[in-house]
Amino acid sequence: MSLALFGLGNKSSKTVKHFKRIPEGSHQHDMMKHAAATLGSGNLKLAVQLPEGEDLNEWIAVNTVDFFNQINMLYGTITEHCTTESCPVMSAGPKYEYHWADGTSVKKPIKCSAPKYIDYLMTWVQDQLDNETIFPSKIGTSFPRNFITIAKTILKRLFRVYAHIYHAHFDDIISLKEEAHLNTSFKHFIYFVHEFTLIEKKELSPMQELIDRMMKA
Ligand SMILES: [Zn+2]
Repeated sequence: MSLALFGLGNKSSKTVKHFKRIPEGSHQHDMMKHAAATLGSGNLKLAVQLPEGEDLNEWIAVNTVDFFNQINMLYGTITEHCTTESCPVMSAGPKYEYHWADGTSVKKPIKCSAPKYIDYLMTWVQDQLDNETIFPSKIGTSFPRNFITIAKTILKRLFRVYAHIYHAHFDDIISLKEEAHLNTSFKHFIYFVHEFTLIEKKELSPMQELIDRMMKA
């Protein structure tokens, strides 16, 4: 049993620091409302489709922000269970281990604990979302040419947080009665990345079994 269970370990006092708000009254906010309404109907296949007349980049942008917020919230519920003692490496089951590199400021991958890796990851994603040249919030400002490529990298990395939660913390999620919330969020995410082919199949392999079941259901 780890020390963390007794509150003696490296107990995280982190508050939810990563969050991005989509301003009310903006077109992006309307898109989110539309998406939420379709999601409420329970038809995920339809809910992830590009709404008629909308811009694909903008649709991918608002959904990426939404997934980031959801994952941040879900991970936030288990941070005290995800410590350097419980999770000394960032993993998704015994076969997959991740080392952090962002490709620009960190080129040589760093082997670190899961909480450290996820902190690097969420901070990096937030920096992308807050960058006006990548995620323009002003009307009439266009997305960069390579926007989809950047979005793919963001989503590929966010997927790893889901994968870590499922593989290392599903029991914690169950005791918090958060499993329906996690499953709904992950299923929505998978339908979305599938609709626009945003994550390569090999990246999804740590969760392939559940994905196959979810896509069939
Ligand atoms: Zn963990």
